[in-house]
Amino acid sequence: KPSQAAPPPAAKPNRSKSEHVKTELAQVVVDAKTGRSYCKGKLLGKGGFARCYEMTDLANNKMYAVKVIPQSRVSKPHQREKIINEIELHKSLQHKHVVKFSHHFEDQDNIYIFLELCSRKSLAHIWKARHTLTDPEVRYYLKQIISALKYLHNKGILHRDLKLGNFFVNENMDLRLGDFGLAAKLETVEQRKKTICGTPNYLAPEVLNRQGHGTESDVWSLGCVMYTLLCGNPPFETLDLKETYKCIKEVRYSLPPSLNPSAQKLISAILQKNPSDRLTLDQILAHEYFTKGFTPEKLPPSSCVMVPELNP
Ligand code: ADP
Repeated sequence: KPSQAAPPPAAKPNRSKSEHVKTELAQVVVDAKTGRSYCKGKLLGKGGFARCYEMTDLANNKMYAVKVIPQSRVSKPHQREKIINEIELHKSLQHKHVVKFSHHFEDQDNIYIFLELCSRKSLAHIWKARHTLTDPEVRYYLKQIISALKYLHNKGILHRDLKLGNFFVNENMDLRLGDFGLAAKLETVEQRKKTICGTPNYLAPEVLNRQGHGTESDVWSLGCVMYTLLCGNPPFETLDLKETYKCIKEVRYSLPPSLNPSAQKLISAILQKNPSDRLTLDQILAHEYFTKGFTPEKLPPSSCVMVPELNP
């Protein structure tokens, strides 16, 4: 009889960890109204209010990205209103380049928002790995962002927080605009709330000057996104936020001479101080940067981490 190796020591439960997990979120979440159960998967990321998890519908194995917002974070009425606004607004959107809103429910512990899973995360993750993208890639992503943005603006909705982290990418490398936490219905110039919200580096001069946010302010942010993807850093980044705001108000930024000349022209036609001098979304699409340059139909997934070989 061969001698048996000693069995491996039984894994000791890590008491502090298991206690921690219990208070966090159950492995299975049940929607009491429909009776459907969902199994919690990996953590996709953390946001201001929410943690976002992969979750699987146990009835059909369909996977979702689920924003889990603890009730404790929305105990105040104005906090709850913000989330309800985000849900109601996102629910009303149906477009191929907008993250699909599936459904939502809540239990004693959390609010759960079920979204289309974008398995390749966002342009922020791609940008971190790549630092700069090529012109064909930038055209590919920008066209999809503009398509989503035209849809929103036509519905009278402003996104107000356009940034790399809100451009999600699915398994198929299709772009989806998401995170409607700061989105709002377009109001007249007089009605506009003059609060400053959004991503500091990408805020438009008129927003900083408290003149309110219009469709042109989303276009400004789009210009900042284009600059960042091509140049590797935001146009108005400094070590000090006050200094950054000063640069934005004066539209003080530099274009690297190595940049494609038509990209330089397009960026400077977007980053105009006066909102009415800025290109519109249709004018951007009609710009020579798009009409005279190649846009791939698809991008290979490898382009998330390395420069792709793209042939016109
Ligand atoms: P924020 O505070 O920016 O609103 P979110 O709660 O929207 O953050 O999202 C937190 C993180 O969850 C994001 O950074 C992203 O990595 C991930 N995430 C959000 N939505 C999705 C999705 N539909 N698919 C995949 N990952 C997502």
